[in-house]
Amino acid sequence: MHDLRAIASLFDMRADFVHAHPYGSGHINDTYCAWYDLSGKRVRFIHQRINHNVFKDPVALMKNVERVTQHALSRLLEANHPEAYRRTLTCIPSVDGSAWAFDADGNCWRTYPFIERARGYDEIESLMQAQEAAKAFGEFQKLTADLGGERLNETIPNFHHTPTRLENLEKAIVAADPDRREAAADLIEFALSRSGDCHKVTDLIESGAVPERVTHNDTKLNNVLLDDVTSEGVCVIDLDTTMPGSVLYDFGDMIRTACPTTREDEVDLRKIDLRTDRLEALLKGYLSSASSFLNQCEIDHLAFSGKLLTLECGMRFLTDFLEGDVYFKIKRPNHNLDRCRSQFALVKAIEKRLPEMEDLVQTIAGRVESAVV
Ligand code: ATP
Ligand code: MG
Ligand code: MG
Repeated sequence: MHDLRAIASLFDMRADFVHAHPYGSGHINDTYCAWYDLSGKRVRFIHQRINHNVFKDPVALMKNVERVTQHALSRLLEANHPEAYRRTLTCIPSVDGSAWAFDADGNCWRTYPFIERARGYDEIESLMQAQEAAKAFGEFQKLTADLGGERLNETIPNFHHTPTRLENLEKAIVAADPDRREAAADLIEFALSRSGDCHKVTDLIESGAVPERVTHNDTKLNNVLLDDVTSEGVCVIDLDTTMPGSVLYDFGDMIRTACPTTREDEVDLRKIDLRTDRLEALLKGYLSSASSFLNQCEIDHLAFSGKLLTLECGMRFLTDFLEGDVYFKIKRPNHNLDRCRSQFALVKAIEKRLPEMEDLVQTIAGRVESAVV
C-alpha cells in the first residue's frame, strides 16, 4: 500500500484528505479510492499509479488521456449534456498544473473524480448490460471522432497490429523449447493456417477503406461504468490504451469478451460457442451510437472483427506459452495453452456462425438506419 496522503499532496485537491483504500478489480494499475472532506461534505476521488512495466512512457500516455478527456468534456458541454462531468473521466491537475504527478519513487500518478452511482461488472449478467456497454463505447468513439491536432501517442506500439503478432508467434515457434513446441503443435498449425486473416484489417487501413480513428482498445464490460438505477452506460474508463486504431479492434474485442458461452480458460472445448443473442445486444447498442460515423466497409467487417480479435488473442497466449510464460500471469502449468485452445475453439465457432453473424449485422444496421431516416 502506498502512502496516499503523500500522493494526495501532489495534486490540487482543494479538499482535505481523510483516508484511502485499494479499490476495484483492475489487473494493471494500482487503484485507490480516497475520501476527502470538502467543507464538511465527504467526496471521493480515484488515485491511480500507472504500471510503468506495461506502459513504458506514462507521460505520453497521460498526454493522450488529458487530450481525449478534455475534448470529450467540451463536446458534452457544448451539447448541454446535463451530466457532462459524469459522462467522461476528467483529470484533476497536479499542484504544478499537469494531468499527472511523479512520487518520490518515480511512480507516475493520476487523479480522477469518482464517478458516483455507477459501477463496472466483471461478468455480464444480462443482455441489457452488453447493449449499454457497447453503446457507451460507440459514444466514446463518437465524442473523440473529431479530435484535432497531432496523432495520439501509441501507448503500446502495434498493440492490435495482427501481422506483427503473427511475426512474433513465428519467431517464438523457431526459438521455443522443443517440448513446448511439441505440446503446442496442433495450435501452431491452427494459427498458421489462418495467417491470411491476420492482414485483412491492416490492409484495409493501409488502403484507406477503413479509417484510422481514436479507439479505446480494451473494450471489456468492466471498463464501462453502468448506472446503478437505470443500467445505462455512464462512463467509459481505463483509457490507457486509447490511441490510433480501428473501430474493428474495439468491436472485435467486445465480441471476444462478451459473447463466448464460457470463461476465457474453459478446458471443455465442447462447451465453447458464440452467443448470438449477446452479439445482437452488442450490435444494437453499438450501432445506436456509432452508425452515424461508421463507413460501410467498417460495418461490413464487424462480424469478422470478432474472429480476428479472438485469433489474435489466442496467438498471444500461444506465443507466451512458447516463450516460457513470461507475459501473462499463469495459475497452473499449461494455463496459456488452455487459454489459447479456448480462444481457437471460439474462432472455430465464429467461423461456423459467420454467415449468421453477417446477416445479423446487416439486419440491425438496416434497422438503425431506417429509424434515423
Ligand atoms: P484493467 O485490468 O481493466 O486494465 P486497470 O488496472 O487498468 O484495469 P481501471 O480499469 O482503470 O484499472 O480501474 C480499476 C477499477 O477502478 C475499475 O474497474 C473501476 O471499478 C474503478 N474505477 C476506475 N476509475 C474510476 C472512477 N473515475 N470512478 C469510479 N470508479 C473507478
Ligand atoms: Mg479496467
Ligand atoms: Mg486497464
